[in-house]
Amino acid sequence: MRPVPVPCLLSFRILPGYFPFRNLHSPLVTRNSTRREYPVGSHMNRVYLDFNATTPVEPAVLDAMLPYFSAEFANAASIHTPGQRARAAVETAREQVAALVGARPQEIVFTSGGTESDNHAIFGVVAQPILAVRSGDVSRHVITTAIEHEAVLNTCQALEKEGASVTYLPTNRNGQIDMEELRRAIRPETILITIMHANNELGTVQPLEEIGRLAKEADIYFHTDAVQSAGKISIDVNKLQVDLLSISGHKLYAPKGIGALYVRGGTRLRQLLYGGHHQRGFRPGTENVAGIMGLGKAAEIARKSLVEDAQRISALRDRLQQGLLHRVPQSRVNAASAPRTPNTTNLVFPGVEGEALLIALDLKGLACSTGAACSSGAVEPSHVLTAIGLPPEEARASLRFSLGRHTTPADIDFSLNVVPAAVAQLRELSPTYRKEATAHS
Ligand code: PLP
Repeated sequence: MRPVPVPCLLSFRILPGYFPFRNLHSPLVTRNSTRREYPVGSHMNRVYLDFNATTPVEPAVLDAMLPYFSAEFANAASIHTPGQRARAAVETAREQVAALVGARPQEIVFTSGGTESDNHAIFGVVAQPILAVRSGDVSRHVITTAIEHEAVLNTCQALEKEGASVTYLPTNRNGQIDMEELRRAIRPETILITIMHANNELGTVQPLEEIGRLAKEADIYFHTDAVQSAGKISIDVNKLQVDLLSISGHKLYAPKGIGALYVRGGTRLRQLLYGGHHQRGFRPGTENVAGIMGLGKAAEIARKSLVEDAQRISALRDRLQQGLLHRVPQSRVNAASAPRTPNTTNLVFPGVEGEALLIALDLKGLACSTGAACSSGAVEPSHVLTAIGLPPEEARASLRFSLGRHTTPADIDFSLNVVPAAVAQLRELSPTYRKEATAHS
């Protein structure tokens, strides 16, 4: 019998009368909490534990950006005085972003975000030789992992269609690659290793220093998607020996639509876009000065508060994790023994559908996430969770909680109340879970 597809509740459209963000109008945003109070038509407090999806723009970041929408609106490429002021501001922001990752300012290219940075790094290294492949010159090989973000995975798949070959390294139960397997995957024609720093769903951190050493020895370019690590854990591009590194503004309290790519001096990288002479012609397009100012300020704040943030946030994350393990029977943490970013935990709650739980929690005022993707109206279990060896039903029963700079102990208390209750309620409604629970009792 064909399995019945799980309806894609994540699209929300199929839930009659349900508008997920109905409470998000005119929130009274408090500066030191992710709790929002909603004055109109609702008494609901909302707790946001989905900071890996996106972060709010920090008030100081917004302050740094605002003048560049109006009073300081000049084009940073203009020669006149206002243009020169905008140029100077952009170059200061470049220094701030470079300082966050231990780079030189001239090695930072501003982009529209993590997706563009990943595409540029991968296509930029590999695409040029593909022309050579077409002319029968050489073949090219890329090594990546099965748990990358789609911005890397789909770029690699596009390369495969153009004739490159790609190795997708598996990971163990903890979401980590095996260095020996990476060593064995290297071929004479391997041109690029692209392995993410921290995983968006699990928070697991790959051993970049070892990978960088190996790439260097083998004379292979090394790119890392640091979208989920930049601003959360310390990064030094020289210590890690990466040649290319992607950053996204909206994951570190800057706005959406701005990002950066670190390109080590001397790296042969083809440009993606053709146009004017902005950013030395390497990434043309009139610079998004306000966005760049936001990213610069956010990078500066992250660099200064990184250690303190990490300590406070990881203590809250650990309290949430332990509390849930204690209060929800049979729950487990995915990839628990790997090094992880301080803010992320991913738990499986056997016997519930992740989407149903997500929506139940949303209705109670808690925002978190599943790694599931909607495709053709059915929910596909997260490719990351299945890649680390979770059976599809456990992958579907998993939820990610990602904390942020403004998460408070009260937010954790709230979550520790609502999650166990929602899981218990859903389990109560599940005939299979009830049957299994009775069989084991
Ligand atoms: N890489 C990772 C690991 C991510 O988590 C994301 C976004 O979720 C991206 C890349 C894409 O970044 P952006 O949203 O800035 O395009």
